[in-house]
Amino acid sequence: MNVGTDDISSFSEEDVAFMRLALSEASTALDVGETPVGCVVVRDGAVIARGHNETNATRNGTRHAEMIAIDEILEADRRAGRPADFSACTLYVSCEPCIMCAGALSILKFRNVVYGCANDKFGGNGSILSIHEGGRGGCGRGRDEAAGGATYPSVGGLMKDEAIRLLQEFYVSGNPAAPKPHRPVRSRAERNTAKRKKAEADQTDSCTDDS
Ligand SMILES: [Zn+2]
Repeated sequence: MNVGTDDISSFSEEDVAFMRLALSEASTALDVGETPVGCVVVRDGAVIARGHNETNATRNGTRHAEMIAIDEILEADRRAGRPADFSACTLYVSCEPCIMCAGALSILKFRNVVYGCANDKFGGNGSILSIHEGGRGGCGRGRDEAAGGATYPSVGGLMKDEAIRLLQEFYVSGNPAAPKPHRPVRSRAERNTAKRKKAEADQTDSCTDDS
């Protein structure tokens, strides 16, 4: 199922609370100059991993929020000496998983996904491909295995306005990894300082006009 709605009332209180945590991760990404997408993974009602995009810091385009969280779980399970099991895991992510991440969720057999805004360019949960409904595909294997991988329910739209707002703030400021020429990247503090200076300048101008 893939539903686009911004109506919080159609989600549980638990869903809203976990999405807030995912959005908090996205906000952290924005603060450090990363594309603001964040996620948490929940198992048995508890957050067991969280992540936000780290593609710029690592210069690795595969380090999406979901991959960061997945690696955290794999590492924890490895250290605990138990096999990784994602079958009871719910992913809350601020933006629809891309095709790569949607494939990973299928391979790992996540239980389900709740996301915020749609990913109109790369979405793998309904926007471009529907990997949650069809499985991950063949990954270079024979045609017979083309429909391999688990399927999982995915519902979108939860708090999408906040997810979009963070992305807009990022792209207005300039993505440090964008091809040049691009607008200079400024931290949130620098942007606030610039806004304050502009307001002060405007104030001075209006005072000058009045005199
Ligand atoms: Zn992704």
